[in-house]
Parts: sequence; C-alpha cells; structure tokens
Amino acid sequence: MSVPYKDAGFELKFLGTMNGSSSLHTNAYFYPEKDVLAFIDLSLLNYEKASYLITPNLKRVILFLTHLHDDHASGVLSLAFLVREKLGVLLEVMTGSYFTQGAFQVFYETGGKPIFKNGELSEVLRIYGQTFDGRILTRPSLESAFLVEQELILESQQFKVPSWFVKTVPTVHSPRLSGAVGFVFMLNGKAIVYSGDTNTADPFFSKAENYAIETGDEAPLPVPTELYLEAQTGANITMHLSFDKIRSELLALMRRAPLLRVALMHYNDYGITHEVTEFNRELGEERLFVALQESPV
Ligand SMILES: [Zn+2]
Ligand SMILES: [Zn+2]
Repeated sequence: MSVPYKDAGFELKFLGTMNGSSSLHTNAYFYPEKDVLAFIDLSLLNYEKASYLITPNLKRVILFLTHLHDDHASGVLSLAFLVREKLGVLLEVMTGSYFTQGAFQVFYETGGKPIFKNGELSEVLRIYGQTFDGRILTRPSLESAFLVEQELILESQQFKVPSWFVKTVPTVHSPRLSGAVGFVFMLNGKAIVYSGDTNTADPFFSKAENYAIETGDEAPLPVPTELYLEAQTGANITMHLSFDKIRSELLALMRRAPLLRVALMHYNDYGITHEVTEFNRELGEERLFVALQESPV
C-alpha cells in the first residue's frame, strides 16, 4: 500500500484495530462536533488511551456500543466514571434496542445483585437503544432495569439525537449473542458505515452500495462512503467475517460503487496488509485500506 490509512483522509481514528486476542482491541473514536467526542466501543485495555481524550472543552461524550463482548464493552463503565468526574456530565451510550436490556444487566448487576447502590450508576451512565424503526429507547432508572418483562420506555426527549447520527444496523455476530449492531453516521459529507463484529457482510454491503443515506422523502444521494468492515484471515471462522470468503463479493461491490472506500479492522494478523495490496492491484485503484491505530499515546 503506498498511501497509509492515516494519510488517506478517513474520518475515524482507532485506539486499536485488532481482535480480542491481541492487546489492540478494535475501538474507534471521532469528533463529530468541536466539543463532542464519540467512541465506538471501548475495552478496558484501551481505557487509558481513551482517558487522554477526555479534555475539559468537551460538552458531550457519546459511546456507540456494538455488542457486549469484553474487547468492545469492558471499558465503558470506567469511562463513564471518568467523564462524570472530569466533565460533570453523563456518558451517553447508544446501542441497539435489544442490547439496552442486556447492557443494563452487564453494567448493573453481578449474579443478580446491583453492583452499585442507591442509583449511583445512573448518575454516570445513561444507556439508549435505537429500535430498527428509528425510535430511541431508554430505561430511566436503576429500579426499572430489574423489571425484565417491562417494556422499554420511550424517552426520546432525553437523548438529543445528533444530526450526524443516521441509524443503527442490526447484524448477526455470534449465535449465542443476538442483537449485535453496526452504525451509520454522516460526517463531513461522507456516509460512514461501521460493521462492528459480524459474521455477515450483507447488511453493510447493502448500506454501502446504496450510499447508506436515507434522506426522508428525497431520493438517496450518491455520496462518498467509508465502510469500516471487520475482516479476519483464515477460513474456519464462524463469528467473524473471513476476508477470504468475502473478497470476490467485496471486489464486485467496489467496482459497482466508485465512491466507496473500505477500511478493514478487527483483523487477527498483519498478513492482511498483503491481502489488501493484492486486492487493490486487482481493483486497479487504491481504495481498500487497513485501519491503523492512531491513539493519543
Ligand atoms: Zn471483537
Ligand atoms: Zn465480538
């Protein structure tokens, strides 16, 4: 690859880019507004790097949570306490609606008991989920987190939906972990499609091909699109995308969608860079990249 990822103008930066077995878990961040910091997932291993980004000028910190595996979710609570301490605001966590309940269970209880008393946690963290018809849901209090049968309560007025947030995208990751989501954002005139961990590329290929943007009554506009796709090398993979398996479909997609560039993440070894070089040679253009760590420390 002649142009490195960080010089190629991609919108997302990464605290780490590799899979759960490495110490560089795939967690991303970006500044959608001058005083707003957004994370996509945060593991405990990346927490220290993330902490350097919590600067006094920030008015709002939003974390988009794809699913509850350790390499994506284990740092969220620590971040929430830091944000509360340094900025005096709640960390806002946005995830899929299915996970809203699961996330509460992970963050609120251990073995059926609350890990924090007297609603302390609700003072540092607020979890929102977006249903796939676009409603924003949240559970307003610690108590209701334990009412498993209770319907999630619509409190869209509590989450100020940012103009640059487009939608959550449901996908399939592990059979024992339903409800994983990816996200679509609109940043600086570009559609940002983020897969998270997934074992199928279908929802993200279709979003990327349609340039992701559903602009109300208007026809979708062709806009430059960045697709952040997880890809591992090797064929015996069930919970993750295998680059070998999606290669030809990705090549066809990128030929059909000339404004689409793709960054691979969550890979398991640096052998992927060789695959990427070969891919670009076949495509005839340099539009496939490997996301690289660009953390503050
Ligand atoms: Zn993962
Ligand atoms: Zn995972």
